[in-house]
Amino acid sequence: MEINSLTGEFVRASTEGAFLKHKQPQTQSLLGFTLVFCTVFYLGFFVTDLAALGWGAETRTLLAARILVAITAGSGAWLAYRRALSVRRMRCAASLAEIVALASFMLISTRRPDEFHWHAMSLAIMLVVIYLYIPNRLRYATQLAVGATLAFVALAAAYGDLSYPDKLTMGMLLVLVNTFGFLAARRFNHVSREEYRSWAVLKHAAERDHLTGCFNRRYLHEQLLKGEWAGSLTVVLCDIDHFKRINDTHGHGDGDLVLRGFARILQVATREGIDSVVRYGGEEFLIVLPETDLAGGVALAERLRVTFAATEVVSNDGATRVRATASFGVATVELAQLAFDMPLRHLIDAADELMYQAKRNGRDRIESLQLA
Ligand code: GH3
Ligand code: MG
Ligand code: MG
Repeated sequence: MEINSLTGEFVRASTEGAFLKHKQPQTQSLLGFTLVFCTVFYLGFFVTDLAALGWGAETRTLLAARILVAITAGSGAWLAYRRALSVRRMRCAASLAEIVALASFMLISTRRPDEFHWHAMSLAIMLVVIYLYIPNRLRYATQLAVGATLAFVALAAAYGDLSYPDKLTMGMLLVLVNTFGFLAARRFNHVSREEYRSWAVLKHAAERDHLTGCFNRRYLHEQLLKGEWAGSLTVVLCDIDHFKRINDTHGHGDGDLVLRGFARILQVATREGIDSVVRYGGEEFLIVLPETDLAGGVALAERLRVTFAATEVVSNDGATRVRATASFGVATVELAQLAFDMPLRHLIDAADELMYQAKRNGRDRIESLQLA
């Protein structure tokens, strides 16, 4: 989870995407608030048009420009508050509101050419908002801010009547605000991603088993058992056969290798983000399969059984090859009609009983049952 030191964003696109998705609700409400806040002030500043120009055709044009900004930013705020937007759509809405606001601001500046030093201050504040409050990629925010600054400087040169010291001060101010905005945004990006990284590491450590990378009992109790289930729910409970013998013959280290090999087979064969593989006991694993019927669960268990039995684990010293088998209990319940209290608990108990039945019936086999 490396962070780019120039932008403060994650280097890997998938990590950055996961981070943005995680933050999206919060980011949207920040955008909504910022747009409403800025719109109110943007409209409020109309009093300065009135004071500068009086009521006339020119002032009405500026009012129309301000209303256009209010409509654009207001629609953006409405979307941000009311709709779950993709990151890309949210950024498009944000950028559009910024572009309309900046264009309208440039128009107002040229209609009030005596006040370019004040306009520069207003622009400085708008740039801070663009860098820090409107969520966007730092690259896009910088392009918008620098582009707007250059356009403003060109307009000031064409329309403004500024003394040399005023021009210099304006130039310095705009360089300062762009530099500060960029650095502050980069720092904010960095800090929020470091926070996310710590959260992700802690979350992983709290819910995963260190040896196998499977979910642990805590995850089972806090997430899966409390979860809401619907449709066909299947549970597979599997236990490595004569694992004690493997430890006794090859040593605990090689036993660990077999465990990790088995866990890997379970994880590869199941659907990421849908199924859950839990290390239930020492060499006992639980697989929770939502939207899976008994036939599907048995087919999966059979695939796991055959694959594991055919897999040779090379021992730590590379000298011996270890083979093992496992026994499986598969239980399914149809939750469509009845609202079961703790359905997963019942299924696990049933699968446990079936797994012991498989042991009694000779091991390296599957026993299954559809619960009524
Ligand atoms: P059965 O076929 O009836 O399941 O026989 P078994 O020997 O697999 O059953 P038993 O439950 O008696 O043995 C489980 C063994 O697993 C005992 C324990 O020392 C070992 N074990 C538990 N956790 C670990 C672990 O993390 N690493 C290693 N290497 N062994 C472990
Ligand atoms: Mg065992
Ligand atoms: Mg066991």
